[in-house]
Amino acid sequence: MRILVTGGAGYIGSHACQRLLKDGHRVVALDNLFRGHREPMDMLKSAHQTEFDFIEADLGNQDIVTKTLETHDLDTVMHFGALAYVGESVENPLWYYRNNISSGISLLDGCDAAFGGSGIKRFIFSSSCATYGDPPEGMIPVPEHCPQSPTSPYGFTKLHFEHILKDYAIKRAMQDNPIALTMMRYFNVAGSDRTGMLGEDHTPETHLIPVAIDAALGKRDSMSIFGTDYPTPDGTNIRDYVHVEDLISAHALAMDSTQLGDVDAFNVGIGKGYSVREILDSVKRVSGVDFAVHDAPKRAGDAIALYNDPTKIKSKLGWEAQITEIDEVVSSAFNWLKAHPNGYASKQHA
Ligand code: UDP
Repeated sequence: MRILVTGGAGYIGSHACQRLLKDGHRVVALDNLFRGHREPMDMLKSAHQTEFDFIEADLGNQDIVTKTLETHDLDTVMHFGALAYVGESVENPLWYYRNNISSGISLLDGCDAAFGGSGIKRFIFSSSCATYGDPPEGMIPVPEHCPQSPTSPYGFTKLHFEHILKDYAIKRAMQDNPIALTMMRYFNVAGSDRTGMLGEDHTPETHLIPVAIDAALGKRDSMSIFGTDYPTPDGTNIRDYVHVEDLISAHALAMDSTQLGDVDAFNVGIGKGYSVREILDSVKRVSGVDFAVHDAPKRAGDAIALYNDPTKIKSKLGWEAQITEIDEVVSSAFNWLKAHPNGYASKQHA
């Protein structure tokens, strides 16, 4: 297929580009490089001269989106580009709504206008388990039919955009020009590609596994656990950590199997929850470093416990996580961060 990957220079987007190229697809990555990196784009371009292009632009730039789709004759959009920090979204909600929703609508307008108004054929949206908020009793592990009630502006941006997409899909069906729409609700994505080429390089870094690895590598003196009196067995939050390569496999399966007119949502998570303390134990095991950890107040917007019920994605897409041992997920993240102490910039100084 011929795919536009928004946020293609980001952590998940770059792994998607790599996998889609490996599968023989034509890929164009679009990224404004606000938090993405040019280096993975350059590496992918040198490995796939004719099948890959990178365009530095904002996904909210409707004209560039339309022109890109038409110039490269693209039929599918994988939409990863977004601001994605729960805590930051609580501090800057308007920025999150503007970026994740207003720019998303411009992206859709750009897609809709392409090919003389007939638009693209497939849209796969990077949604989030944050759309569920704190699931009601009996809904953990979380199935797709769990009520969606986010606890953060970030979660609301993802939920609102799901609704916008569903309404867009209805419009397309009414015009007798159906689109295949898939919403992938990620749990916590972690790890990096096991060839060692791509990694997770965020500024600022706030995600648990890379923050803990930074502590293990001595890049920070210590780290904090945000909340130790949650109603969980060890008092810390529980999350489902899915390896980034497994996550992208789910996208590839969705892209290959959905038909025009399909509108569906899938949770992507391994189906097992780990507490913050269990993750820190894993990072200590993998790194062999007993770094300092402090108890800290709860972080605004955090849900208590979220892990996936993978029944639907397994039965409808045949997806199952291949990497389910947390130490393996952590090892792949650790190996890249250890080899790249300054993230992608390490390459220039090597
Ligand atoms: N967390 C923590 N200390 C940190 C970073 C994260 O205790 O330095 C906790 C956070 O409160 C949450 C879990 O780790 O319960 C996962 O957070 P992360 O930011 O990695 O992902 P999120 O679940 O917010 O998408």
